[in-house]
Amino acid sequence: MKKIAVFEFFIIIALLTVFIVLLKSGSKNQSTAQSSPTPAVTAMPTDKTLANTPDFNRSDIIIVLDAGHGKASSQMSDDEKESSGWTYYNGEWGDWRHFKFGKKTDDCMGVGCSGRVTPNGTCWYPIVNSDRLYEPEINLNNTLSAKRYLEELGYTIRLTRETNDENPSITKRLSYCYPDNDTSKSPDALVYLCIHSNAGSGSGTSYIALRGEYDHPEIPDNYVGFSNTLGMYVNDEIANNTPLKKNPPITYEPELVAFCKCPVICGYLEIGFYDNESDFEILNNYSDTIGKAIAQGVDRFICELLAK
Ligand SMILES: [Zn+2]
Repeated sequence: MKKIAVFEFFIIIALLTVFIVLLKSGSKNQSTAQSSPTPAVTAMPTDKTLANTPDFNRSDIIIVLDAGHGKASSQMSDDEKESSGWTYYNGEWGDWRHFKFGKKTDDCMGVGCSGRVTPNGTCWYPIVNSDRLYEPEINLNNTLSAKRYLEELGYTIRLTRETNDENPSITKRLSYCYPDNDTSKSPDALVYLCIHSNAGSGSGTSYIALRGEYDHPEIPDNYVGFSNTLGMYVNDEIANNTPLKKNPPITYEPELVAFCKCPVICGYLEIGFYDNESDFEILNNYSDTIGKAIAQGVDRFICELLAK
């Protein structure tokens, strides 16, 4: 009898272990810290080409274009920061990096989230970290140019900012994925594209890759793969059509606020280095070409995504 009881005890422990493992692997909220140098991309249907007209109206497709950064935080009043979606916490303005698990509007405030943060960072993203010289203008020029070409193709475009005299929080920018910025509804945008330029001793164009699992309850299946594919397609077009050198994807920043809080496919471009003299010259002279390349990359992605 005693032997059987011990045997049964081990069987129960084994079953419990299997149950816990299954529970963990099925959780969307589990954050994984893999260090794969090759970002996951989702293979698109290769038998479809742009010549096969997809069965959709481009005007039904909403694309959010996010011109990165904006007005310097030192130039913004407290009222302006508040109305731009920034949060005042512990004596400073900023943005929370995540929503709480399972929520799409409740900021994590440091608890109840994946805890995915930049190395040595926290859930808190101070507004001052978004301050940039020169980059806001470059990003806006590229974004406005991309908007023109995407609208020419027939798409419906939303901008997160329209001037260099504003700097919405990332959380506020992401609300443009929803009808009338109403986050209580379902997102109606198909893709969200962050348009940035890089800095810090380098040159060339790249995109930032996502990795692992993300918290947002509304992200589509294959969120990581589709987002990386979108970034790759757009970056390829920019490199093919401008003198900017094509760089491999940036794989060390998968914890960006935009990735953590975005509810739809999210591409993130780092177009040229604005602090590199030669790239800066290109950025100032090729915004029309860059915008056209962005439009072509986005169109290719959407056509392949929706082609039947
Ligand atoms: Zn958090």
